[in-house]
Amino acid sequence: MRTPLVAGNWKMNGSRESIKELINGVVEGAKSLTGVVVAVCPPSIYIADVTAVTSGSSVEVGSQDACTELKGAFTGETSIEMVKDFSCKYAIIGHSERRSIYGETDEVVAEKFTTVKNSGVIPIFCIGETLEEREGGITEEVCARQIDAVFAAQGDDAFAGSVIAYEPVWAIGTGKTASPEQAQSVHAFIRQHLAKRNADIAEKVQILYGGSMNPANAKELIGQPDIDGGLIGGASLKAEDFMAVCQAGQ
Ligand code: PEP
Repeated sequence: MRTPLVAGNWKMNGSRESIKELINGVVEGAKSLTGVVVAVCPPSIYIADVTAVTSGSSVEVGSQDACTELKGAFTGETSIEMVKDFSCKYAIIGHSERRSIYGETDEVVAEKFTTVKNSGVIPIFCIGETLEEREGGITEEVCARQIDAVFAAQGDDAFAGSVIAYEPVWAIGTGKTASPEQAQSVHAFIRQHLAKRNADIAEKVQILYGGSMNPANAKELIGQPDIDGGLIGGASLKAEDFMAVCQAGQ
């Protein structure tokens, strides 16, 4: 039995003031939820403000990325040990914006995955195909390739205690959501692919869907047998909408 996880990816949005209001709304809303884990991933500069509010609540906090290295001369980077110092439980790794805008290869993402996992923080490992790849009929091949880079770095038990987010790139921030059937089909493929290495781990891994999930479509998506929650961008920026998605995960 996998407990659903709904994680908000706030990306580079908000101000100190607006984030205070947002996290207060999330903490308040989460009080009435059971059977779903709620997490938020703020811009790193606001993590301390957010954990000051979430401390003692059921809401978990994550970072949006982490450096491959733990410390040293890496100007502009944030290490996983630093975000761990601020009680982050999760770290998003390999988001499509990191892959496409900052050129992170499968190998770099796998290296980040290793650094995060070794630190004891839970990686939320993002994978997914572009529109061109979907139309070219290679969705499964792309997801398998992204996953296999992590197996190559970490071995057959790589995904023990980790989270995967399937995020079709064409659905992120576009308002176009994968249909529940489309999403379920890829989620089932991902689980089968993991099971080839370790069936027990594959059964336990939470596989989140991400891509324009919102209060109107969350219940049907999360209701699919292999969809264990969501990674939410736009709809996580308003406490009311985010809590409605979290409720759908209950
Ligand atoms: C995301 O960026 O992880 C995401 C799913 O964004 P959105 O919900 O806005 O599509």
